[in-house]
Amino acid sequence: DWADYDRFGEQQWDDERDTPLAQPVVAVVGRPNVGKSTLVNRLLGRRQAVVKDTPGVTRDRVSYDAVWSGRGFTVVDTGGWDPDAEGVYASVTAQAEMAMSTADAILLVVDANVGVSVTDEAVAKVLRRSDRPVLVVANKVDNQAAEAQVAELWSLGLGEPYPVSALHGRGSGDLLDEMLRRLPETPREQLSPSGGPRRVALVGKPNVGKSSMLNRLVGQQRAVVDETAGTTVDPVDSLVELDDEVWRFVDTAGLRKRVKTADGTEYYASLRTRSAIEAAEVAVVLIDGSVPLTEQDLRIIGTVIEAGRALVIAYNKWDLVDDERRRKLEKEIDRDLVQVRWAERVNVSAETGRALGKLAPALRRALESWDQRISTGRINSWISEVVAAQPPPVRGGKQPKIMFATQAQTRPPTLVLFSTGFLEAGYRRFLERRFREAFGFAGTPVRVVVRVRE
Ligand code: GDP
Ligand code: GDP
Repeated sequence: DWADYDRFGEQQWDDERDTPLAQPVVAVVGRPNVGKSTLVNRLLGRRQAVVKDTPGVTRDRVSYDAVWSGRGFTVVDTGGWDPDAEGVYASVTAQAEMAMSTADAILLVVDANVGVSVTDEAVAKVLRRSDRPVLVVANKVDNQAAEAQVAELWSLGLGEPYPVSALHGRGSGDLLDEMLRRLPETPREQLSPSGGPRRVALVGKPNVGKSSMLNRLVGQQRAVVDETAGTTVDPVDSLVELDDEVWRFVDTAGLRKRVKTADGTEYYASLRTRSAIEAAEVAVVLIDGSVPLTEQDLRIIGTVIEAGRALVIAYNKWDLVDDERRRKLEKEIDRDLVQVRWAERVNVSAETGRALGKLAPALRRALESWDQRISTGRINSWISEVVAAQPPPVRGGKQPKIMFATQAQTRPPTLVLFSTGFLEAGYRRFLERRFREAFGFAGTPVRVVVRVRE
């Protein structure tokens, strides 16, 4: 369980962001009985770390934190979610696919005594498409004599095979050295698309107060451009300092110059909105709080969610909101914004400057969620609890089983579930709600992807 997992990790901590430092993930794939679990135990440097469960039962842990030469990494044992013996070919291929979408490096384990089987070939074919390093592990090379069989594994087309004996430890140090050497410096979830100030889109339908807001924010700041010398600013963007941090408001040229789109150009306005959202990491959707919520407001929120950007909803013109309007507005929120209950709302006034100080903290919280990654170990203990309490609904007489779950991506957080059957939309939403309850993620859309093993 969780306490147990904690003990495993000499988990490195990112003090600045107060989250566990993202560790590179190494996936171990291969046919049953080639020695994957034995190898994982060996990599962990502990016996009995991996317990083989009854087939068909979701293991609550298939990922483990390990350290080698002072470097931490997470090992994922894909054999742990192989529920049955039938369909080995398909399930091993699915493992490989899962590994490619989640891991930073892949170890393909082959039994050198058996040589290359049809299944090994099929998996190798999948893995040759990988943009991650793949190492062929020639296992069960217990002694010098067995080395002779290793050369055959070159035929997998994945480079030099590394002879090891997972059982006795022979060659495993060399394998780990080589693996660490090949691991990318930065784990995939830490790859930043940005660099520099975080990018904000200020969007909303015409006349909600976008220009007024931008001018107000720009008016409040000190000389930002000087302080961030060396930052190249696209002339269509504005650098704005809020709460001691510089932010890049993207595609604000039109707002800055107060160029108003003439009537009948809404199509272009919506294209602009879309491209600003795409260019940003977080969007502030401005809504005129003094008038009823419209379809157009909801469409813009929908665009942000579809684009997978973090979201802050700002109710502007709050100076015009009286008690009666406020009551109506709360009803509108309950009725039309239930789907985005996770988004933070701030009530502001560009006119008076009311509550504009709440904007930057809200942006920060939303981006923190957008960047957040929950370790595979935690997600799998969470999912096994949730599924035990509330299993997926039976379809066509079959009970789908969720074998493995991982947060494959951040920005936006994407939960990938590997399942033996289709999971209905209602159940996926239920899982999303539980996922948010367990781990937070306020301010960001969360994607739930189901991979069904054929
Ligand atoms: P998995 O199904 O791929 O996880 O395979 P296991 O780790 O359960 O191993 C399958 C069998 O192969 C077990 O009986 C292991 O003891 C054995 N085995 C694993 N690695 C080695 C090895 O390096 N040498 C030998 N001789 N046997 C091994
Ligand atoms: P944009 O089309 O979204 O850029 O909206 P503008 O910034 O041009 O604002 C539209 C109108 O609303 C202007 O007349 C603004 O003065 C007014 N406005 C903007 N923000 C506020 C606010 O917070 N309170 C009030 N009372 N009026 C505002």
